[in-house]
Amino acid sequence: MVAQILDGKLFSKKLRDQVAKHVTVLEKEHKVTPGLAVVLVGEDPASQVYVRSKGKQTIEAGMKSYEHKLNENTSEEDLLALVNQLNDDDDVHGILVQLPLPKHINEDSIINSINPEKDVDGFHISNVGLLATGQKSMVPCTPLGCLLMLKEFHGSLAGKDAVIIGRSNIVGKPMAQLLLNESCTVTVTHSRTKNLEEVVGRADIVVAAVGRAEMVKGDWIKSGATLIDVGINRVEGSDGGKRLVGDAEFSSCSKVAGAITPVPGGVGPMTIACLLANTLVACCRKYHLKEPDINLN
Ligand code: NAP
Repeated sequence: MVAQILDGKLFSKKLRDQVAKHVTVLEKEHKVTPGLAVVLVGEDPASQVYVRSKGKQTIEAGMKSYEHKLNENTSEEDLLALVNQLNDDDDVHGILVQLPLPKHINEDSIINSINPEKDVDGFHISNVGLLATGQKSMVPCTPLGCLLMLKEFHGSLAGKDAVIIGRSNIVGKPMAQLLLNESCTVTVTHSRTKNLEEVVGRADIVVAAVGRAEMVKGDWIKSGATLIDVGINRVEGSDGGKRLVGDAEFSSCSKVAGAITPVPGGVGPMTIACLLANTLVACCRKYHLKEPDINLN
């Protein structure tokens, strides 16, 4: 079997185009422009790249982008003051504080200080609870992107066996909630799971969010299963340069899976597109306007 490639670049372009179209209508009919504020503390090179990319794509979608770059030594108090200022700013509909934060700042305190209605990352405790109870919430961008690709490929996910590798708050756990809400039978695995290969081998859908380069091998996967690879790992290539690989070994998995996301070009581009979609949704909710139907059709 040769797996169908789930092309995140293509899907994310579709989603960004939909968002941009909706933004134009909002402006024309309601004189409202969604605004996204991104806060970066410190100089982490990967975070700087993400923030730049987010800003660029926000503007391309016709939204307003506000970037706040703070010094590595910024105090928790000063960061809280900035978040409060953004909470009160009517032009800002979405707030994202780029993680990880420097060690002297308590991430939970900062995330939970964001107005949940502007929490476009979906990490605020209120949004976590709303998602867990199947209520309307802001949904974390990476798992939302995975879900959209799965629904685009499968249509209904009801009754499917889904195995998630990883239980982080930003990927594994919200992914489990989303798939449960779609009536999948969900197993969440982690570093203490016994017989991981056997558990993965039962799955119709595998979501790998581990952070271990090429850990999942082709002989772990059930023939025809769908494999969503969230991992982003920088490894040394044969030429001595750096290259990006996922948590699954693409060469072997793509021969067994029915569908697979590549790395790069799979989940990654969907994450930013979902951030834009969430900002649009937050803006529509603020003014009680019709929300966009977020899908990839
Ligand atoms: P994380 O917080 O480090 O969590 C990793 C999870 O994997 C943990 O639950 C850990 O288990 C589990 N794990 C570690 N070793 C394992 C093993 N040998 N067997 C089974 N489970 C194991 O990572 P994360 O933030 O969820 O990110 C995961 C990956 O996705 C990373 O490569 C990250 O860069 C990538 N990522 C990509 C995007 C994107 O936009 N594409 C977004 C976010 C993250 P324990 O809980 O027991 O420690």
